[in-house]
Amino acid sequence: METQTKIDRDHILAMERLGKLLEAIGSPAVCLGPRCKAPILWVQHLNGDRIPYNPNGELHPDTCPDRELFRRKKRT
Ligand SMILES: [Zn+2]
Repeated sequence: METQTKIDRDHILAMERLGKLLEAIGSPAVCLGPRCKAPILWVQHLNGDRIPYNPNGELHPDTCPDRELFRRKKRT
């Protein structure tokens, strides 16, 4: 199926571009979760929040096996 192949190729290219963008703007680090230790990229958003991303563009907390350890404490 030619259309499907084109979509796959476009998707792969988009993911590669996203990865390059994250490498350009993010600070490389390693997740501190004892079961995780995945490579991550810290990206500072314009509102000041620093958010950890996976190199493929996913939000790291969505995939981290230790995300419960890092759940943000609300500042009061
Ligand atoms: Zn993690």
